[in-house]
Amino acid sequence: MNDYIARVSENLRRQYAHEPEYLQSVGAWLDMIAPAADDPRYEKLDLITRMVEPERMFSFLVPWVDDEGVTHTSHGYRVQFNSAIGPYKGGLRFHPSVTGSVVKFLGFEQTYKNALTGLPIGGAAGGADFNPTGRSPREIMRFCQAFMYALYRYIGADTDVPAGDIGVGSREIGYLYGAYKKVTGRAESSALTGKGLTYGGSRVRQAAAGFGTVYFLARMLEHQGETLEGKRLLVSGFGNMSWGVCRKAAELGGRVVTLSGPDGYVYDPDGVCTQEKYDFMAAMRCQMGQDRVEPYAERFGVEFFPGKKPWEVPGDIAVPCATENEITVDDAVLILANGVRYYVEGANMPATADALRLLRLSPKVLTAGAKASGSGGVAVSALEMVQNSLRYSWSRREVDEKLRGIMSAIYDASAAAAEEYGLGYDLIAGNDIAAFKKIAEAMIAQGL
Ligand code: GLU
Repeated sequence: MNDYIARVSENLRRQYAHEPEYLQSVGAWLDMIAPAADDPRYEKLDLITRMVEPERMFSFLVPWVDDEGVTHTSHGYRVQFNSAIGPYKGGLRFHPSVTGSVVKFLGFEQTYKNALTGLPIGGAAGGADFNPTGRSPREIMRFCQAFMYALYRYIGADTDVPAGDIGVGSREIGYLYGAYKKVTGRAESSALTGKGLTYGGSRVRQAAAGFGTVYFLARMLEHQGETLEGKRLLVSGFGNMSWGVCRKAAELGGRVVTLSGPDGYVYDPDGVCTQEKYDFMAAMRCQMGQDRVEPYAERFGVEFFPGKKPWEVPGDIAVPCATENEITVDDAVLILANGVRYYVEGANMPATADALRLLRLSPKVLTAGAKASGSGGVAVSALEMVQNSLRYSWSRREVDEKLRGIMSAIYDASAAAAEEYGLGYDLIAGNDIAAFKKIAEAMIAQGL
């Protein structure tokens, strides 16, 4: 790490000591890009500071009324992180754990995740500390409307384009878009992505995050002369990302044997690989809305392990798809001990800094980071924007093929950058470096 980066890092630690998630994600990234950061222009232009801090960030109150007539006040956020290569773009998360630090870390990750999709999108993130668990559909709608009334002035097709994340799926995007349309009086389709197919959404968007991760994984397997055929995948979470991974893995001959929630994990030795199981996953998330995975075990007669994580199960491939920091050092040790040979991140920053270090440095496992293997969702969001501006929609096959091509290009760019900097097959560092260089060049070209 050169003196300039060390100084930037120290300043951040001093300034944002109370923002642990943000410091963790930036800290890991600074380590990764260090081998490529010696260009004297970076210090002269103070470029690294401008790349790790958001261009703009704001918070707002979201007052809303529940079904009993009681008023609640939630805290909303939007971080417009970086617009060097396109309008701000990134998800909204509705979860009680949402804080300014969480949103800032998500916006940071999103910026560098979006950079290599090959589509012109900057990075953003947002959300609220609203807890959708147990809320009625009417309460969800009212909350989405209240949230949009506070946000609508600051977003738009050419400025900032929100989408979903934890707690925000197609139902919420529908309400958010409906509210946006009402207050602005315009059917501005690409002001939001993840829309339903009947009103400007893209085919494959729902499954895109998981499909993208499996496409990336398939390239890693190919590099090792292997395929997904017969492989056991350990997946955490049971949301959109997990759902897409189950489907695409099954299509390519693999078998997802675990799913998890805050209540524990389920072990399904036959694999989550039938339409009935996919539909049930979606229903657990939406209709049941309880944020529990145990109903899957009851429904399909498989074992449920309360309070446990899936990493104690033997498998070939670990795909964390739940949330940040779910993998601790103990979990990483289990992953390595259980014969896992591929660790491919779906969720953003799923491992703690120490756990990731352990996995990355182990010769037993090949690793891919969420900024690469987790970018399928946003890639199809960007394709949704393209279709909206064309006033046209592509077929499922066209979108899926484009997604596969994008994931493959991200893989190639990551592998090439790692090679160029003498880092071997370090796809995490390679991806961070390639994205860093792309955004750096775009920022330099546009002046201050
Ligand atoms: N939250 C998603 C992600 O992490 C979606 C972002 C988007 O589609 O804008 O990529």
